[in-house]
Amino acid sequence: MTFGNGIRSSPSMTDRTPSPGAIYSTYSPPFCPNRDCSFHLGNSRQWHYVRDGFFTRPSDQRQFQRFLCRHCGRRFSTRTFSATYWLRRRNLLARVAQTLSNGAALRQAGRILEAPHSTIARHQARLGRHGLLFLAEAMETATIKEPVVVDGFETFEYSQYFPFHINLAAGQSSWFVYGYTDSPLRRKGRMTEKQKRERVRLERELGRPDPRAVETGMADLIGPVLDRSHGPLELHSDEHPAYPPAIRRAMANRPDRQIDHCCTPSVEARTHENPLFAVNLADMLIRHSHANHRRETIAFSKRRMGALDRLGIFVVWRNWIKRRREKKGTETAAMDCGLADRPLKWADVLKRRLFPNRVALPAPWPDYYRRRVLTPVLGEGQTEHQLKYAF
Ligand SMILES: [Zn+2]
Repeated sequence: MTFGNGIRSSPSMTDRTPSPGAIYSTYSPPFCPNRDCSFHLGNSRQWHYVRDGFFTRPSDQRQFQRFLCRHCGRRFSTRTFSATYWLRRRNLLARVAQTLSNGAALRQAGRILEAPHSTIARHQARLGRHGLLFLAEAMETATIKEPVVVDGFETFEYSQYFPFHINLAAGQSSWFVYGYTDSPLRRKGRMTEKQKRERVRLERELGRPDPRAVETGMADLIGPVLDRSHGPLELHSDEHPAYPPAIRRAMANRPDRQIDHCCTPSVEARTHENPLFAVNLADMLIRHSHANHRRETIAFSKRRMGALDRLGIFVVWRNWIKRRREKKGTETAAMDCGLADRPLKWADVLKRRLFPNRVALPAPWPDYYRRRVLTPVLGEGQTEHQLKYAF
């Protein structure tokens, strides 16, 4: 029997006839999903695969086309290319994304969606990874034609002894969030004598955060933005002393690029006219939309990694789903900077599974994807995302 891709299959592969409800029988997989296969990355014209019967999903007896890669011998199905691969409750993912980006904490989302909070946490991690890849994929072809604003959003993990910055880069006129990184900080500000002693004890046990973490985080943030900018980059920030050395570090590897750095004192009124408005607005939306960053909350992040997962969800919502102005028009930030032609819904964002090896991830995003950002006080046993079969 001959298939659409011109490969003649042996009878043993086709003798399982599909039920009338079988779907995707005309679907052609775009590449081999096995990351170790030489046909995982491009060159699909020479890729040979065969249709290999059907996979019946136990929960609803629905059938999906299976395939066999002729090169690596791996079997997979149409489900392998779905963002909901391996999920039992397939309709849950988009609803978790929507619930989390509308202010619910994990347990609240669990109660709303009638799912254990551990399921919500797993979905949050998956959505965070997907959001990260979604942004990274868009950035591969983006050209930044507007001034960019950078700033550090201060929050904490585990307890107030472990503050950290989320560094954000946003388009000054589009408000599109082009990237984010994190920088662990040392607790500063007013402390009681007891709190000072506790800080000494914790630092003796766990070590001090790198004093140049803000510089590193900001350099990692600015570098990829600079790579994508059209001509000299007009970069706006406040007067944080770590930013000029961060800019020099980002420039060091890119001698042909140029940055015009403009500083605005952070005490200036945070109005619409403030040159840093785009990033101030992103800060406000993060606090408004994500329970873990509210002030005086019990929903604070227990792990920085959890906060970064949520940030992956935030950037997709902020850039592609949320309208720029609630009362006027339907334009999103992604539409304003030419990266989309219509507003997206979560179902659109999750239509297609994204594979980490097929998307360029600048540092430190591979660590975010693999969940390698550890909270020192929690010690061993923090889960890292294992790239199981093909992922
Ligand atoms: Zn293969």
